Amino acid sequence: MRAHALILLGAPGAGKGTQAREIARHFGIPQISTGDILRDAVKRQTALGLAAKAKMEAGELVPDEVVCGIVEERTNEADCQKGFILDGFPRTISQAQFVERMLGARGKGLPLVIDIEVSEELLLKRLTGRATCSVCGEIYNIYFNPSKVEGICDKDGGKLLHRADDNEATIRQRLEAYHEQTRPLIEYYQGQNVLLAVDGNKEPEAIAKGVTDFLSKS
Ligand code: ADP
Repeated sequence: MRAHALILLGAPGAGKGTQAREIARHFGIPQISTGDILRDAVKRQTALGLAAKAKMEAGELVPDEVVCGIVEERTNEADCQKGFILDGFPRTISQAQFVERMLGARGKGLPLVIDIEVSEELLLKRLTGRATCSVCGEIYNIYFNPSKVEGICDKDGGKLLHRADDNEATIRQRLEAYHEQTRPLIEYYQGQNVLLAVDGNKEPEAIAKGVTDFLSKS
């Protein structure tokens, strides 16, 4: 993979996190999820967490300056020197412009962008059925990919948790934020000729294989 930064674009529930984990493992570069960083800050009740909590619970976007600061700081760490995957960022045109400025300042070229497209019906099932291991972060789904024992992770016995924002009202708001603020990024990146659209309605393994094959050649 030649690009220094890989961006995963897609609606909530499109499978960005699942794919980012797989690609990160495959290429040995870190996955940076702004959602995970923000949730961790909320849990630890840091100043960042306190500032972001209300927005996240409402299904709205956290202000650009806040998330851009997180990404700038995290991607400056040593493990990002060889490249990184952004999952859940950028989500607005202004965040996309920030990525470009940041990469440019570090002497890197444009990012490569994977857009994961999933039908609205499937998105809703994925989000309402999602459960995540509190220990290792493995993602399950009660409809499609249940754990062997209900509520318990197959890998390490950790408790499976539903995200606070995976309830119907918040999901609706998150999808609206996606349509209004994030979807315009597709056209933006098409214009730069850096976008690969993939069918996210398929099984995660099949999607991951298509994406990693493509990235190995590009
Ligand atoms: P999803 O993509 O399933 O909605 P994430 O875990 O990526 O979930 O994000 C959860 C929440 O964190 C978002 O609804 C938003 O409030 C906040 N968030 C994450 N990334 C960003 C971002 N790049 N810009 C603004 N807010 C963000």
